[in-house]
This record gives sequence, C-alpha cells and structure tokens, in this order.
Amino acid sequence: MIFIEIVKMNNDVNKKLLHKGVKPTSMRQLVYEVLDKQKKALNLYEIEQQFDNVDRSTIFRTLKTFQDNCVIHRIDDGTGAVKYALCDENCTCHLGDLHIHFLCIKCGQTHCLKDMPIPKMDLPNGFLFKSANFVVKGTCPKCS
Ligand SMILES: [Zn+2]
Ligand SMILES: [Zn+2]
Repeated sequence: MIFIEIVKMNNDVNKKLLHKGVKPTSMRQLVYEVLDKQKKALNLYEIEQQFDNVDRSTIFRTLKTFQDNCVIHRIDDGTGAVKYALCDENCTCHLGDLHIHFLCIKCGQTHCLKDMPIPKMDLPNGFLFKSANFVVKGTCPKCS
C-alpha cells in the first residue's frame, strides 16, 4: 500500500516539498498541485472545491504545515477570506521575499506580483517589523 502511494506521487512536487523540509504525502502533493495549477491565490473554500470527500480540517492542516515551512504564504486582501499562494523555491518568507499582491475588483482574483517586492520601510524608533501585507486593488489584464 505504501509502495503504491509512493509510485503514484509526482516526483517533481516531492522534490519541491522535500526542499522546504516537508515530508511528502499524497494529500500534501494534491494540495500543492491545486495551488500550482491555478496560478492565483485561493482561499480555503476554493481549495476545498477541488476535492471530493476531503475533510476541510485535513486541508487546513496541510495548509498550516505548508505555511510553517514557507511552501505557501497567506494573503489578507481585505475580501474577508484569507488566500494562499505558492512561494518561490528559494523564498524564506522574510522581508526581502515579500511581494505586492494585486486584487482585481472585477473578478475578485488575487495575484502575486513576485517581481515587485514590497517597499523597504523605515519604521519610527521603537517600532519593530514583523510582517507586512501590501495589497494593490484595480483591474487585472483579463478584466480591464
Ligand atoms: Zn480580473
Ligand atoms: Zn504572493
């Protein structure tokens, strides 16, 4: 049984998960592939829609593992549902790796603008940087 599972797994995805220190399982591989296929950020509900009969908490746990290991990052684009998108291979989710997100007000899709790092911030004395969420709103190429 375990052997069959391993054979079924996509080696490329496996390698990417192992590179981030995540032990590949078929569930993790499937969630990764869903995010990879969509090329946009997805919320938990949208990810759940891609599966038949998979418990929401199982997906949520997988997302949590991915997040803890910088396989994905979460985006709060102000729509009320947190979205998730894949990180680049060498991303460490530190300030230098953070990029701007673009929310299309017409189709509601959120895109990673990975070539646009968030601006460097000089915070006033006593303020310590922890994380940043930089969302630009407008219309995407499909909608404008
Ligand atoms: Zn759009
Ligand atoms: Zn992103």
